[in-house]
Amino acid sequence: MEYRSTRGDDQHTLSGAAAILQGLAPDGGLYVPVKFPQPEFKLQQLVQLSYQQIAQLVLSWFFDDFSAEQIKTSVTAAYGDHFDRKEIVPVTKKVGGNYYMELFHGPTLAFKDVALQLLPYLMTNAATIQHSNRQIVILTATSGDTGTASMRGFSDVDGTQVIVFYPYQGVSPIQLKQMLSQPGQNLKVAAVKGNFDQAQTMVKQIFNDQAFNEQLHKQGAQFSSANSMNIGRLIPQVAYYFNTYSQLVKRGEIELGDQINFAVPTGNFGDILAGYYAKKLGLPINKLICASNQNNVLTEFIRTGNYDRNRPFYQTNAPSMDILVSSNLERLLFMIADEDEHVVVDLMNQLQQTGKYQITPEMHAKMDSFVSGFAAEKEVEQEINRVFHENHYAIDPHTAVASKVVRNLQELTDDSKPTVILATASPYKFPETVLKAITGQSAQETGLPAVKQLNQYLGDDIPAGIQELDTANSIAETVIEPALMKNLITKSLIARQ
Ligand SMILES: *Cc1c(COP(=O)(O)O)cnc(C)c1O
Repeated sequence: MEYRSTRGDDQHTLSGAAAILQGLAPDGGLYVPVKFPQPEFKLQQLVQLSYQQIAQLVLSWFFDDFSAEQIKTSVTAAYGDHFDRKEIVPVTKKVGGNYYMELFHGPTLAFKDVALQLLPYLMTNAATIQHSNRQIVILTATSGDTGTASMRGFSDVDGTQVIVFYPYQGVSPIQLKQMLSQPGQNLKVAAVKGNFDQAQTMVKQIFNDQAFNEQLHKQGAQFSSANSMNIGRLIPQVAYYFNTYSQLVKRGEIELGDQINFAVPTGNFGDILAGYYAKKLGLPINKLICASNQNNVLTEFIRTGNYDRNRPFYQTNAPSMDILVSSNLERLLFMIADEDEHVVVDLMNQLQQTGKYQITPEMHAKMDSFVSGFAAEKEVEQEINRVFHENHYAIDPHTAVASKVVRNLQELTDDSKPTVILATASPYKFPETVLKAITGQSAQETGLPAVKQLNQYLGDDIPAGIQELDTANSIAETVIEPALMKNLITKSLIARQ
């Protein structure tokens, strides 16, 4: 199984281990399989498997340069006690006619944990496979959750260092507290004056800065990424689509072979792309519902084939989806362009120069697995309120975006197939919004006090990952201009020497 860049030809390939270590291709593209795996599996057999076994199977389809033993020990170490449910990713009973796939039972309470508890093991094994003893410097631009989850996953992992950039005043109080209080000698975190798109663009530029990379190599280090741009972050996410399907079959909710829908709160298009990969691998998925907040570039793109980021950027109550340039869309473009890198390069150039592009009707026709919709902030609050008061089930604002979009679609169409909504974060991660939505009252204080106030209404247990913040020591926030990101990286590299 070889990988290539979405912007490079298929003569320049590399192994899965090399692609994971690299993170991003030097030409600015993203790594994709040269030949998409066509595994032979029987759905029926999946139903017998645990989450860990399904994850092993999926990883073995994509990363055949890893030994079975390497994959097994990685998966076992990643998916154990750090999750507060033994199912790792439990699926609810029907709640108001749909299912919720709870992806927030890891240590930092968002779906990012599912991949980022595993990625450090994949990366250290990849270094072994590649005979690399370079220090791996993981650069991460985060809209909130990837930062915390990658700091948590890589904390004090030998041979790695993590540098996280998040938008200044663009993350929730709990997300901020999590990032500023994560212990680890190898972690650095800074706020960037700008939004996520600006931080992500700078990180990409730094990745592709040849002189900087050479300097880093001389120091015995290399960059990698923990964003969903890294194929090693994306593939573990494919597993939970298979697992959810098998859960529903096992519980008798669906029959083997039935088609189901998945609704995904979307930002960088990573999570939903993992669903598309699952469909390509043969999982019976009917529609992938791409749900956006008011930053609804993707809603329009999926409907019309017209991508246009020239629009206001909104800071919303679902901050992890406040994104106008969705990196992983490039991987989808590559597939619907029949793997023609010239088409991808051309579209990405247009995006960079004009902020927009339009795909051909032929390409657009190949996106028929996707449907889209968006929800505004007020609708998000109403949806949290409705789901709670009708079903006594609390959802976070990101999940509520998808939940609302699903309801709108169900009213408009006669699609009666079972639908699974990806619940991407715990409601306790965004207690201010959830409290306000459920009770109509604002939190007296943001952050942990709001968690406690919310808890009085929910009457469940506050997740350990939030409780521990109560006694955690925080560092002061570092705030920098985007132009100083490179400088900060250099300084923290020197500090580590
Ligand atoms: C990151 C994130 C998303 C968006 O996922 P993408 O893979 O970037 O599309 C949605 N919800 C939450 C809670 C997130 O942390």
